[in-house]
Amino acid sequence: MSGKPKSNRPLVCEVCAGTDLVRRITTYPVRLTGPLEGKEIHVGRVALHECRSCGHLMPTAAGRAKVARHVDLGTRLFLGQLNDYFSGD
Ligand SMILES: [Zn+2]
Repeated sequence: MSGKPKSNRPLVCEVCAGTDLVRRITTYPVRLTGPLEGKEIHVGRVALHECRSCGHLMPTAAGRAKVARHVDLGTRLFLGQLNDYFSGD
């Protein structure tokens, strides 16, 4: 037994290295890259940590899985719509 529980304060902000993070469930905006660059998907009710210093949002593991699923779905939706749009004969 080494004393301190490891899960006490594991998180540090990726941007400013601040440790003052608040757990929230909120909408998380994702900017797409590649063929859909410039588009943005807003994933609702994502579990994440918000940095109190700079406002950076960092999804939890569960939040990240949800974001990944929605981005995948949204990307296909966008591409499908674009195909429909341009393939009319
Ligand atoms: Zn920060």
